[in-house]
Amino acid sequence: MTGNVTGTLVPFDEALNRYDPVMGLEVHVELNTATKMFCGCPAVFGGQPNTNVCPVCLGLPGALPVVNGKAVESAIRIGLALNCDIAEWCRFARKNYFYPDMPKNFQTSQYDEPIAFDGFMDVEVDGETHRIQVERAHMEEDTGKSSHVGGATGRIHGADYSLLDYNRAGIPLIEIVTRTFEVPGHKAPLVARAYVQQLRDLVLALGVSDARMDQGSLRCDVNLSLKPTGTALLGTRSETKNVNSFRSVERAARYEVSRHAGILDAGERVVQETRHFHEDTGTTSPGREKSDADDYRYFPEPDLAPVAPSRAWVEELRGTLPEPPTERRRRLQSEWGFSDLEMRDTAGAGAMDLVAATVEAGAAPQAARKWWLSDLARRANETEVGLAALAVTPADVARIQALVEEGSLNDKLARQVFDGVLAGEGTPDEVVAAHGLAIVSDDGALTEAVDRAIAANPDAADKIRDGKVAAAGALIGAVMKEMRGKADAARVRELILEKLT
Ligand SMILES: [Zn+2]
Repeated sequence: MTGNVTGTLVPFDEALNRYDPVMGLEVHVELNTATKMFCGCPAVFGGQPNTNVCPVCLGLPGALPVVNGKAVESAIRIGLALNCDIAEWCRFARKNYFYPDMPKNFQTSQYDEPIAFDGFMDVEVDGETHRIQVERAHMEEDTGKSSHVGGATGRIHGADYSLLDYNRAGIPLIEIVTRTFEVPGHKAPLVARAYVQQLRDLVLALGVSDARMDQGSLRCDVNLSLKPTGTALLGTRSETKNVNSFRSVERAARYEVSRHAGILDAGERVVQETRHFHEDTGTTSPGREKSDADDYRYFPEPDLAPVAPSRAWVEELRGTLPEPPTERRRRLQSEWGFSDLEMRDTAGAGAMDLVAATVEAGAAPQAARKWWLSDLARRANETEVGLAALAVTPADVARIQALVEEGSLNDKLARQVFDGVLAGEGTPDEVVAAHGLAIVSDDGALTEAVDRAIAANPDAADKIRDGKVAAAGALIGAVMKEMRGKADAARVRELILEKLT
């Protein structure tokens, strides 16, 4: 029997009265190398099934693998960015097990000699920093992909038949494994989520992966156990596999706390097993039972030379590391003068790079933030695309803001310019010209409109002549109406007062 089917779920907050969660995370990152880990096949997502394959990645007898140097470089850069030591000499190992989407019947991985080890990442949650120790980052290859057809769930149980696609087999993976960590219980799911988020930012900044959780190029296994509060008794852990969004990492952790607590409260034993996470219900279900002693009969891969990166090369790669995302965030916050809340909102909206690029293009930070987080975020929501996928560039935003600041546009007109740019009508200047959106501050046109407004509103004009300057509002409104919002309101006011006082 696997899993616990009788235990009741204990509400998360209540569970924390009696238990402390102990967590660990394993993240697989698919590298964006041009070719696979051990052969020259293209390493691309999708494609017609079984078109990017060769004898090596199909595991045909006699095929000889060769290590992809670019993948080793990416692995070392990830390791360095995670503050790891880099092995002076390490080997690949065969991890033996049978799986239909792995035709060699072993996965080429690393066992006791990972390329990178003993690192850490500082994770920020609610203004507090939690140091997560990274045990290791090792290289391995991805497996192929099975699709189970005919069943209701897409899983093998109940399926009529299965299809196998080996295009993904052999794509380079880096597996990053944390040591177990304990943080205040209520924060554990948030810290886990933030770790994965920061790790994704990091690999994106390194440029080594497209890190698309929705496409599986970054996926996370969530390990969790509970120990009774105030004791050192480690519980039995569950391992929720292939969680594929930040939110799901948090939800899976919360659910497992509730589930484990229910089992322990009932005096039962948590089964050590893998679990599947279900997006629709936020629950997990049993996968396969697992023991720490799973014997994969690892042995060093005889067909591959050891990897022995020279110290000079490692130092050269260290020189290529980007500014760490957390430091960059701190630096930008101080440069932009944003409050913690503004910074959190900007990051949460996925707008950090966009705001940075808009500022670089000349806009004031607050103006850049305002456009991206209000109008543009709303439009991204309406069309269900990401902010970065909107058909407006940071340079466009900076240009529109410049037009606002020089008085050619007000906010209302600026929104119309955004409409045009988003609709593909051209650059901001082209949209302004095509729709005649610029504010009219030309005295000739304004004076004529002011004269018409005075003639049409004699009462208001008389009041102003009598010194009741507040009555100018009615005349300004009439001019704005006639010019459909495009008049320079301050100049209109001046003209009215010049004429009547
Ligand atoms: Zn191949």
